[in-house]
Order: sequence, then structure tokens, then C-alpha cells
Amino acid sequence: MAMTLEELKSRKRDYFLARHENDELAMEPFCYCGNVLEADYYCKECDHKCMCTFIVCMDPQALAMVENLVHGNSDFAKFEFSALADAPG
Ligand SMILES: [Zn+2]
Ligand SMILES: [Zn+2]
Repeated sequence: MAMTLEELKSRKRDYFLARHENDELAMEPFCYCGNVLEADYYCKECDHKCMCTFIVCMDPQALAMVENLVHGNSDFAKFEFSALADAPG
């Protein structure tokens, strides 16, 4: 199952974008509106503190690493994840 950023936006789900980089998992937090978030996770556009509990994986390696993380680390047990669907067009 793959997810689009538009779908997350319509569901108002804040998310992490995960990608495989230098053999490590890089995760960047975003508000559902598309704003990249600072360390305080506060979105000025939406005037709320974001709860990023969805991880969108940009490549197959990241997806495998996130799967291990969510299944193997109790801190991530409540996270949902999916592959990023190809952007339309
Ligand atoms: Zn947000
Ligand atoms: Zn926002």
C-alpha cells in the first residue's frame, strides 16, 4: 500500500519523510500542510503542534529500515508507515 502526500493532507496526518542516505535512515518531520518542521514541531501555518505518527518512505531501503524500526522498537510501536506513491504526472 502506497500513500500520497495529498492523501495525508486530506486526512490531516502530520508525517515524517524517510529516505535511505549514507547507509542510514534519514527522517524529516513535516506538517500535513507540507511545511517542514523545526525541533519544536510547531507549524506556524496551521497554528498547532504537530504529531508526526506516520512515516512515508521514499525508497525501498528506507521502507525496510522503517519496518524494522516500527516492529523492533517499542518507541515506534504506534507509528504507521507506507511507501510514497509516485506523484501523479
Ligand atoms: Zn501539523
Ligand atoms: Zn501546517
